[in-house]
Amino acid sequence: METKIVILVVEDEKNIRTALVDFLEYHGFDAVVAEDGLEAERIVGERQFDLILLDLMLPKISGEQLCAKWRQEGLQTPILMLTAKGREKEKIAGLNLGADDYITKPFSLEELLARIKAVLRRTDPARAVGQNFKFADMDVDIAALKVKSNGNEIEITKREAAIIQFFAANPNRVISREELYKEVWNETMTDLGTRTMDMHIAKLRSKIERDSANPEIIKTVRGAGYKYET
Ligand code: CA
Repeated sequence: METKIVILVVEDEKNIRTALVDFLEYHGFDAVVAEDGLEAERIVGERQFDLILLDLMLPKISGEQLCAKWRQEGLQTPILMLTAKGREKEKIAGLNLGADDYITKPFSLEELLARIKAVLRRTDPARAVGQNFKFADMDVDIAALKVKSNGNEIEITKREAAIIQFFAANPNRVISREELYKEVWNETMTDLGTRTMDMHIAKLRSKIERDSANPEIIKTVRGAGYKYET
């Protein structure tokens, strides 16, 4: 049985909160609510969530304060911020504080759903693609750390498996090196990080690409990052 994705909705406006919960439950998520910053802080201290929808303008403790505090404490849960229109500065501050994405009110629920799915794919590729999946023309077995291609079995490392899983969960999108490093290594990019990542990508390409000098699976997008096309 697949466990449901549980989303914490932190929103003080009752109408929006109720609409969000109805919508999320309709789409198969479990929703838990917090009506102000203090309640959100307490609930997050008590249990785990797969995603937090965090309104910025909240009574008692603001969304920014919560986000900063949670990240300082090492909370890894993806956070999607709900910001009011025209508050560009808040959005930027929110991302600097460790939010994964933001959406501007008023938003359509379809747009919200797309953002939620995108954040979940990015932050939890393992859940998005599972342990066994197709990657280009290969069959990937994450648990066994093996990739099967044209009858050949290729062994991969855990890190290579995480890279493949990430690209498989995020096809047809340019992935910046910063993003890849953040999501696969769980660290902020540094010079050393750049070299580490380049080495891992080169090694992985030598295993899975026909010609690693002209990669066709994990493509390089000049000046922008990488892309896996399906
Ligand atoms: Ca509010």
